[in-house]
Amino acid sequence: MNVEKVGLSMQRTYKIAILPGDGIGPEVTTAAVKVLDAVQKASKGLKLNLIYGEAGFNCIERYGTNLPSKTLEILGQTHACLKGPMTTPEEPGAPPSVAVIIRKRFDLYANIRPCKTLPGVSALKPSIDLLIVRENTEGLYSGIEFEVSSGRGVALRVVTQRASERVARLAFEMALKRKRKVTCVHKRNILRVTDGIFREAVFNVAKGYPDVTVEEDHVDAVAMRLIKEPERFDVIVTTNLFGDILSDEAAQLVGGLGLVPGANIGENYGMFEPVHGSAPKHAGKNRANPIAMILAAKMMLEYLNEPYAASLIEGAVASVLQEGHVRTYDLGGNSKTSEVGEAIAEKVLESL
Ligand code: NAD
Repeated sequence: MNVEKVGLSMQRTYKIAILPGDGIGPEVTTAAVKVLDAVQKASKGLKLNLIYGEAGFNCIERYGTNLPSKTLEILGQTHACLKGPMTTPEEPGAPPSVAVIIRKRFDLYANIRPCKTLPGVSALKPSIDLLIVRENTEGLYSGIEFEVSSGRGVALRVVTQRASERVARLAFEMALKRKRKVTCVHKRNILRVTDGIFREAVFNVAKGYPDVTVEEDHVDAVAMRLIKEPERFDVIVTTNLFGDILSDEAAQLVGGLGLVPGANIGENYGMFEPVHGSAPKHAGKNRANPIAMILAAKMMLEYLNEPYAASLIEGAVASVLQEGHVRTYDLGGNSKTSEVGEAIAEKVLESL
């Protein structure tokens, strides 16, 4: 990563693409940027040059695409991207999801979604701390889908050894820094070829990590076990669609979609976003929970190797949740999106 370090002051300057998106995206993004402004004040030498780009549903009418080329240029010039949620049109022939395009274009092969019991937030169990590592470039999200004859459609589930091994390697590396357990989630009893390749790749990679325990389970059993005994999981590694579904479920175990962030990581770029979508029914009401987006910004700072700045956000979110005075509707409160952003930013500044 080409980071500008100026003389002894050790100024670290990063260019960050900000894509506010649509629906509740602009509101949660504004709150996250407020927190990032506070982090820059509280973290000596850290400078974030925020470059805003347009993307999402609102672009389609104006540009004929949901990801204009100018925005792609911005992404290409930055160290990382903080992306708000965006509405994806669903009719056949409509542009694919912006997140999916960016993941493929920048080869962001791993989607990392942490789910952890948070202070002051009611969770299914008190000690949930798991990480879902989802293959992010292929599987049923390959976008190869067609109607072979009237009323008969086919979608291709592409799984390669190369993509499976590299996401597995990342999962094992993450497990080394945690409780040293990886659960390989598949459905090989039915999808024998594709999930056979995925499973074999994970167990091949496991041979290089003798200190990490590896287990395997079918996706339907894991969907059940996440409810029954979520504390038994550490790192879950799985294919694209299974990972997407399990991470929404896991989010609900720890308080809901408003709290859970995700990182999309490749060799040369990272894109950070909340797990949730654009929640159109809450758009423009200043009531959505911005914490998932704020924690996505925290994951971005970790990726940029700014652990202190990231810890400022983590601590501030924990304090605000623990105190419980400022919380949005989904956590039983009636605070506004902007008030939650301000409260977390103030907590960050208290560390000065
Ligand atoms: P969603 O995540 O947008 O919302 C589902 C429900 O979860 C909402 O109705 C709301 O009750 C709750 N919720 C979500 N985020 C919340 C928040 N921050 N605060 C409080 N409550 C929150 O899922 P959906 O309704 O299935 O999708 C809406 C649109 O978002 C679709 O067009 C979908 O394609 C898109 N989407 C985009 C992304 C992305 O940009 N990465 C991800 C998922 C869905």
